Amino acid sequence: MPLTVNLRHLENRDLELHGELSLAELDLDLRDEMISVTQPVEYDIEVEKLDDAILVQGELHVELECECVRCLKKFTRKLDLQDWTLHLPLEGEEAITFKNDSVDLTPFVREDILLGFPQHPLCRPDCGGLKKASVGKARKTVGKEESKPSAWAELNKLKL
Ligand SMILES: [Zn+2]
Repeated sequence: MPLTVNLRHLENRDLELHGELSLAELDLDLRDEMISVTQPVEYDIEVEKLDDAILVQGELHVELECECVRCLKKFTRKLDLQDWTLHLPLEGEEAITFKNDSVDLTPFVREDILLGFPQHPLCRPDCGGLKKASVGKARKTVGKEESKPSAWAELNKLKL
């Protein structure tokens, strides 16, 4: 089920919505191979109709499967959007579009989940990177190898 809100249901009262948005519905365009999503997104939101807009407030939770940019280890991390807020205008140029009196919130969830991804996922804040790269055979040049992200070091090795 996509996450839709029917405007008619909002006329006399606010709506509370709890549930899960499946991966198929979410349909994330994951360009970043370091992060993937394998579990549905949980939502817990309240929807309210204002005079000229719909206000959505609540929480989104999803588990991210990440790959550490330094040591390439896989780990999972919770992404929690605690104060998720949407202000959807009903009038003017920015007005949202309706289908059978309903508006689909899925694209907004998708966008904000993607924005919430960590830029450089690390398995832990002080991750030391790949052991091989940091031990580096007696060559104690604190130069190129360490300043480059270790993912590149790995790639270079593969090419040899
Ligand atoms: Zn790491």
